[in-house]
Amino acid sequence: MKLYNTLTKQIEVFESNEPGIVKMYTCGPTVYHYAHIGNIRTYIFEDILEKTLKYIGFDVKRVMNITDVGHLSDDSDTGEDKMLKAAKRDNTSVSEIADFYTKEFYKDIDSVNIKKPNIISKATDNIPEYIKIIKKLLDDGYAYISNNNVYFDVSKYPDYYKLSGLNKEELLVGARDDVSLDEHKHNPADFGLWFTNSKFDHQALKWDSPWGEGYPGWHIECSAISMKFLGEYLDIHCGGVDNIFPHHTNEIAQSESYLGHKWCNYWIHSGHLNDKNGKMSKSNGEFLTMKSLIDKGYNPLVYRLLCLQSHYRNNLVFSYEAMDNAKNTYEKLVNKISQIEDEKLSINKELVDSYITKFKDSIENDLNTANTITYLFDILKDDNLNSSSKLYLIKEYDKVLSLDLIKKEKKIDNELEDKVNKLVEKRNLLKKEKKYEEADKIREELLKLGVQIKDTREGVEIKWI
Ligand SMILES: [Zn+2]
Repeated sequence: MKLYNTLTKQIEVFESNEPGIVKMYTCGPTVYHYAHIGNIRTYIFEDILEKTLKYIGFDVKRVMNITDVGHLSDDSDTGEDKMLKAAKRDNTSVSEIADFYTKEFYKDIDSVNIKKPNIISKATDNIPEYIKIIKKLLDDGYAYISNNNVYFDVSKYPDYYKLSGLNKEELLVGARDDVSLDEHKHNPADFGLWFTNSKFDHQALKWDSPWGEGYPGWHIECSAISMKFLGEYLDIHCGGVDNIFPHHTNEIAQSESYLGHKWCNYWIHSGHLNDKNGKMSKSNGEFLTMKSLIDKGYNPLVYRLLCLQSHYRNNLVFSYEAMDNAKNTYEKLVNKISQIEDEKLSINKELVDSYITKFKDSIENDLNTANTITYLFDILKDDNLNSSSKLYLIKEYDKVLSLDLIKKEKKIDNELEDKVNKLVEKRNLLKKEKKYEEADKIREELLKLGVQIKDTREGVEIKWI
């Protein structure tokens, strides 16, 4: 298996620390809002990576955090905690915000067939772990206390600039705002490990610590959660390119200073999701979530396919035109596959093996999923493959691609049809009463039953998918 490693800036043959076992850590969501589809793209790539590793025989232990404290609205330690801001915004408590958006996050990843990581741990559940690491960093001289906050001293970690490939001056430009705002840091790139002094009065999330009542910095949580569940040696750490600096850079600095040895061998990052004007994010452009795609009538798996059609490291340009193209491709694939009737024939061994080899060669080559989609069409067209061979291959491919290519036997019996008709009628009524939000909920409910609806001049068109 070959993967592009951000740390070495090259494609490398992957080797795990322990034979047959991969320890993988993936940064999770900050649960103050719905996940943006740009974030979902990263989770899809991580899911493909995990499933590929499993497909080729590794036992994967994967951990993800849920950030429910410490992620400031500005990466340079100067903003307000995102969770607190959201609680104020929605006039509710931080824990309610966290619970609500964590559930929404699970719904989102489930809708695009992402397998939940083995272990998911909340930032607020690991406070003693942060304190243990910070204590040692202070004892060993890697951290200092200033203005009652604990900071990591980046000058003590010589390889600080390695992952980002940026130099000190370039990073200074990025941190310039910070220089004027936080004069308590020794170097502008130093980052907070523990805060007791907050310039915000209503810091609701606080814990006791040797340095006074306070709260952890954002970066420490991933290092601590990873070490708690996966030990001192990590094989793979993933995230989006935005995480490279400062988040992952800081994670490496504090983890390796704490451990006294190399921590993680492979750092894998996915590219941006752009629209024609540039990077799409929560704060930039249309705020797009899985829910908004579903509301527009798209099957969430169409978005998964769109992501898989381009390489995870490339920037992907999102547009509704691109979504419609992916939708056409998806429907074409699923329809063609649904027409294959399994004749229970013995499989064409040699040919099947060659398609499996092609599949493995692609996904093992830095996750070239786009190629595998092309092969799917080749399989469908190949007259030398009998029906059973085709279905066998599609099932194998879908173990990694997870596009639900072979629909589970759906019996459209009278009862189901009745239910669907009633829901459509109910929706028509709601629309007449201009209760659009409730009408949209029924659209979602129908989608879950496998029904796509389209409003036309002649009325509602029902399509079983
Ligand atoms: Zn992280």
